[in-house]
Amino acid sequence: MARALSEQQSDRLWSLTEVSFGYNGTQVVRDVNLELRRGCCYGILGPNGSGKTTLLDLMGGLQTPQSGSIAFMDRPVQTWPKKQLARLLALVPQDFMVRFSFSVREVVEMGLHPHLHRFATPNKEDQDLIDEVLEITGITALADRPVTRLSGGEKQRVAVARALAQKPAVLLLDEATSNLDIHHSLEILHLIRSRFEQQGMQVVAVMHDLNLASFFCDQLVFLKQGQVVCQGPTEEVLTPENIEAVYGVEAEVTTNTFTNSRQVSFRLPAHP
Ligand code: ADP
Repeated sequence: MARALSEQQSDRLWSLTEVSFGYNGTQVVRDVNLELRRGCCYGILGPNGSGKTTLLDLMGGLQTPQSGSIAFMDRPVQTWPKKQLARLLALVPQDFMVRFSFSVREVVEMGLHPHLHRFATPNKEDQDLIDEVLEITGITALADRPVTRLSGGEKQRVAVARALAQKPAVLLLDEATSNLDIHHSLEILHLIRSRFEQQGMQVVAVMHDLNLASFFCDQLVFLKQGQVVCQGPTEEVLTPENIEAVYGVEAEVTTNTFTNSRQVSFRLPAHP
């Protein structure tokens, strides 16, 4: 269902060169150099306020770097026509807010907009797609409910469903499972991972939970105070040293045979 990126295109998704950005004169993203390629699920991690959401907004063209440059698929993000970018990229924001009492189904249908001609109404194929994404995100029973009356976790699933209805080639997730219980978190992450593996939908996810990130992401980028502290394959960078350097906690990293991924335990450093 995801729009596969064509084979001729380079496998570079994003190239960020010396990117800096700030709000009201305070820099929150500093001199970031990153290259994200097709074929890996990326996780962006770091403490609160380390610039993860801002970095995602910059990558999605919602903010413009104050210095440095960002290319998406070898073309400066700011030069992509908005509609073309919206056909390729979908963002699941951290705080999914819909002010008006649209039904869940209407909100999910909004994901079709980049693909519809102006004023066109969804056809049977579109309706089938909406039914499918409602089903796989577990919100079919909520379809007629006003979105303003949902719980935080239900709204998050609506946001994921709307993004999938967009059939993106690349999905950007901003803590998309932070309000979900463990069952729904795993279900949504499995769903997204299977879109990545089976349909080639590329994924960049800001994540909070190191254990979920370890099971979900092939590559991790750790940010601290707006700077990249380390990046690389999950098994290489998810180390006690990096976790302590980024979060200021002592950590133990073990291989969990039950989940078949690395497992992190934490404690505050002992006072001398
Ligand atoms: P993270 O996602 O890692 O928590 P953010 O990118 O949301 O970090 O925020 C980085 C810093 O920028 C924080 O100190 C935050 O308070 C500040 N910030 C974020 N958005 C705005 C904004 N719209 N106006 C002013 N400051 C902001």
